[in-house]
Amino acid sequence: MTRLGGCNCGQVRYSLEGEPTRTGICHCEACRKESGSAFSFFGFWPRSAVTMSGEISSWRSRAGEDRFCPRCGSSLFCFEDDSDEIEIKLGTLDGGPSTIAPGYELWTIRREHWLAPLDAAEQHERDRPKRS
Ligand SMILES: [Zn+2]
Ligand SMILES: [Zn+2]
Repeated sequence: MTRLGGCNCGQVRYSLEGEPTRTGICHCEACRKESGSAFSFFGFWPRSAVTMSGEISSWRSRAGEDRFCPRCGSSLFCFEDDSDEIEIKLGTLDGGPSTIAPGYELWTIRREHWLAPLDAAEQHERDRPKRS
C-alpha cells in the first residue's frame, strides 16, 4: 500500500510504501509546541520506504531533527541524517481519517483531562522504554 502526504502549501510532498514499523501519540511539552496542538500522532517507516520532494528545513528539538516546510511551517518528519528510519507526522497524510491507529501513548502525565486513554494502545507515563 502507498500513502501520500505533504505540507499545507503543497511545496513538500512524500509517499510511504507499506505499513509503519510502529505508531504512537505523544502528549509531551515538546510535541505540543511542535504541533501547536494537544498531542502529536506519528509513525515510523524504514528510510527505503519513504520518498520526499521539495525544500525541507530543520530544527534540532529534544526529540531529534525536526523537519518542516520553510514556506508554510507544516511539521512533517523527524529523523537524523544517518538514521535508517523516518518518523512521519501522520497529521500530514492526505485526506483522512487514515487506517492507522496508535500502538502506544507517551507522556500520559501531560494528557489533557478531556482525553481518555486509548484502550488498544500501550500506556507510558513518560517516554517508551528503549528496546532493541
Ligand atoms: Zn508548505
Ligand atoms: Zn512528545
